[in-house]
Amino acid sequence: MSKKLVNVIINGKKIEAPASHSAIQAYWYAGYSRVEGIGCLEGVCGSCRIMVRRANSKEVRTQLACQTFIEEGMQIIFLVFPTPTHHSYQLTDIKNSWDVQGQFHQIFPETSSCRACGGCTESCPKGIEVQRGVELAAKGKFREAGELFIECVMCNLCMTTCPEHIAPNHVGLFCRRLIAYFHIRPSNLISRLEELRQGDMPVIMS
Ligand code: SF4
Ligand code: SF4
Repeated sequence: MSKKLVNVIINGKKIEAPASHSAIQAYWYAGYSRVEGIGCLEGVCGSCRIMVRRANSKEVRTQLACQTFIEEGMQIIFLVFPTPTHHSYQLTDIKNSWDVQGQFHQIFPETSSCRACGGCTESCPKGIEVQRGVELAAKGKFREAGELFIECVMCNLCMTTCPEHIAPNHVGLFCRRLIAYFHIRPSNLISRLEELRQGDMPVIMS
């Protein structure tokens, strides 16, 4: 681990910490406690959202604290916000795949208002083509859209950014669920479950 110390500001506090530290490690290294908005520490859960401004730059980026290594002069603020969603649906209400597009526009009517501003894509710490995913879903291309969101960690940054109150991550989740819901399960799994159902394969309870 690097011994070089760098100076950063995190949540308004001047901190000196090793350059090899992530933003959250640096904050803890300096003795500050933080338990809110912290999760897996491996870039998977999407909890530790931060705004980052680098030295000599006016640009502010949204990133994940566990995956952002500190640099000299960096300014960092942890973001904490509620994660509301106004979408409610049951996939079992979609009787067949012919109904999907109509149901999608009833559940997510705001997607047709996407103004292609790119804010969601810019905000994504996972580098997902978020805007494209929304556009694909709005056109009924759910498989392609769902595959774009495979790496989504549901950090909600794209939703927070959107001026049209679209929740791109929930659009993506809907598409991923849909792919699984209408997918034919593996034949060996189906056969095994059928064997169980017919009693051909005893279940041993220990
Ligand atoms: S798509 Fe949205 S919720 Fe998913 S990782 Fe990117 S910004 Fe976060
Ligand atoms: S931020 Fe909202 S309006 Fe802008 S491209 Fe993304 S989904 Fe569309």
